[in-house]
Amino acid sequence: VDPSVQEDMDKFQNTFKGIKERFRLINRIGEGTFSTVYKAEDLLYDHFENDWDPDKENPNLNWCSPPVKRRKTNHPYEDEDDHRQRRQEGPPKKYVAIKKIYATSSPMRILNELELLHDLQNCNSVCPLITAFRNTDQVIAILPYFRHTDFRDYFREFTTSQVRVYFRSLFTALEAVHERRIIHRDIKPTNFLYDSAKERGVLVDFGLAEKEGTECKPCLCQKDSERRRARISNSVAATMGPSNGYPKNDSRPSRRANRAGTRGFRAPEVLFKCTNQTTKLDIWSAGVILLTFLSRRFPFFNSADDVEAMIEIATIFGVQRMKSCAYLHGTVFETNIPTIGKTGFTLEKIIMWSKAVNSLSGEEKLAVAFLERCFELDPNKRISAKEALEHDFLRVDDE
Ligand code: ADP
Ligand code: MG
Repeated sequence: VDPSVQEDMDKFQNTFKGIKERFRLINRIGEGTFSTVYKAEDLLYDHFENDWDPDKENPNLNWCSPPVKRRKTNHPYEDEDDHRQRRQEGPPKKYVAIKKIYATSSPMRILNELELLHDLQNCNSVCPLITAFRNTDQVIAILPYFRHTDFRDYFREFTTSQVRVYFRSLFTALEAVHERRIIHRDIKPTNFLYDSAKERGVLVDFGLAEKEGTECKPCLCQKDSERRRARISNSVAATMGPSNGYPKNDSRPSRRANRAGTRGFRAPEVLFKCTNQTTKLDIWSAGVILLTFLSRRFPFFNSADDVEAMIEIATIFGVQRMKSCAYLHGTVFETNIPTIGKTGFTLEKIIMWSKAVNSLSGEEKLAVAFLERCFELDPNKRISAKEALEHDFLRVDDE
């Protein structure tokens, strides 16, 4: 272990009351904007196996109430290394991921993440929450450790069949999450821990997730298309259209909408500040991952801000489709950038250029057809996770 990481772990162990008796920290495995994640050995995991009783727990550890009672079946812990485990005497060791949520996160936000994980605890494809502890202002979430491969190590090598297996796993997770009307909001490779040997992945990181319909206001995109078109041609285009040139002295209130997510993975409705965002925005992000696999480029989109992100998307889809997408959400897309064409390019072309090839295989073409469904600019038309699992691309049997 790197000395600076060891120092960080020592500090954590010495300041979080009672943690040493319960977990043995092994390494730091993640460090992000909102949290640090450590791998640790669970020293008391037997408690869980015997229909674990919170009273038996170390009284020095503060539970974030209510403690989660885990069922005995479907034990989620991953063994560190199957081969090593088999050679070892005695009971196998169990490993956890300790997610230390920064104290700068608001209590509401931390509660939101823990509650959503709690709601999702019986989904196989979502990394379950074992429990959570609090010490003064510090909250830690305990998750089973899930062994996974670094995305950068496999995305270039995957065959189309392997890509299909990956997406079957990802869309199974999304279906479970979306069925509960939860929007993950941060679908990207580092939040889907995929074990390429086991061909299984779990979704993590519900730090930005939200229940569909919270804090939402009506948006034009909800209206049925007939009425929408009528309204656009009448009042909306007139009142919401651009004033001449750059709106420097625009007195209208600015639009507000949740824009949480990661650069390059944001759906167009997020960029256009749709006030009624749905689970479909996760499908777009999953599409960005698929485009990465098919084009063998990561990150595929690499914008510094939302305006650049719109330019990137417009370059592929063309001005016309971007304009109607903007109208859908009651806003306007204007550009005078000469490289953005009227009609854009087909995804097939984009992928062939990226790979420097002249044609795609039948399997790849099927993947592109599926990608087109994930990249519908109109969220109402975009494929749902449930429908995706019925799509030919995900259904084809590899055997
Ligand atoms: P953040 O909100 O900081 O992004 P995440 O929940 O995404 O936090 O975790 C950050 C990283 O820690 C992940 O990308 C992954 O590498 C690692 N990680 C998180 N949970 C687990 C887990 N259960 N098993 C193994 N690694 C994990
Ligand atoms: Mg993350």
